[in-house]
Amino acid sequence: MKIDNYFLKCRESVFNKDNNVFLLSKIGGSSQEKDLTVPPNCDGYGRIRHFRRFISEKWGKDPLPIDPACKALGLEACDMIETQVFQIASCNVKCWYCFVPDDLKKALEHSSKWFSAGDMINLFQRDCQGVRVLDLSGGNPELVPEWIYYIMRELEKRGIERNVYLWSDDTLTTDYFFEYLQKDQIDYIKNYKFYGKVCCFKGFDNHSFSFNTKLPQEYFDKQFENFEKYLALGLDLYGYVTFTTDDVSDLEERMANFINRLKKIHPLLPLRIVPLKIAIFTPVKNRLNPSYIEAVENQKRVYKEWKKQLEDIYEESLLNTRICDIFLS
Ligand code: SF4
Repeated sequence: MKIDNYFLKCRESVFNKDNNVFLLSKIGGSSQEKDLTVPPNCDGYGRIRHFRRFISEKWGKDPLPIDPACKALGLEACDMIETQVFQIASCNVKCWYCFVPDDLKKALEHSSKWFSAGDMINLFQRDCQGVRVLDLSGGNPELVPEWIYYIMRELEKRGIERNVYLWSDDTLTTDYFFEYLQKDQIDYIKNYKFYGKVCCFKGFDNHSFSFNTKLPQEYFDKQFENFEKYLALGLDLYGYVTFTTDDVSDLEERMANFINRLKKIHPLLPLRIVPLKIAIFTPVKNRLNPSYIEAVENQKRVYKEWKKQLEDIYEESLLNTRICDIFLS
């Protein structure tokens, strides 16, 4: 099957456009459940995730989505935020390091169920008292940008859109946002104040991207194009990058190229990108091979190069600026 057709099949497997319902994964009872610190909620179709700023002594801090959420909601700065996660039941990418079991990304009947945005917010309001961040994750939520739109409408309908910060992941591998949303829907999302999108660069060059995702190398180039399109809309955009690779040759030059490509989009964009440290969760263990094990180790060398180059480029005051106060307009 051609890749574009496969991507479309993934989209169609989790979205019924006649009823505006979305297929969510059942986390309860899956192997992912073993990695959770608190049991799944929302009848097994949701989970609480604690996002923490501190990663490890030798890795930089992760301010996402803590800082953007606190800023939007007017909360005091903190180092951990509790979020409610729903996972769409399909992904068009096959990252070997994914902490979601493969079965929960294949829209399988026995491990998923259809929900409207209203159904989801009913569960959220029933089970998540005090949780201020709603994270639309997966799988790949970018496959169904309608999900983001209808959740926003539902939050607004209930008058809670200012109490809940909405966060969603994006792999930058499709442009479904522009292809499938109507202009008025795009405008609505664009003007929605309590929303942030995090886009994940799945490698720092064409080779590492392909190694991590099994997609053709040209999709790495598409990631930059898609990021630029989102940015042109004026969305509040952030990025992750994964540094796992089987090849650590010419690191200095390869990293400089990556950073320059980001800077071409906006000179300060590298400061909105957070290196995501890959760890081996339960579902990853079955996929490991010697080159993946080596890649987990290699990411530390790549991270050091990223950090060094950023410190050479930017003043300390900029490096210490809160990520949501780095303005890209
Ligand atoms: S894009 Fe995300 S959900 Fe999909 S395989 Fe990669 S890490 Fe997993």
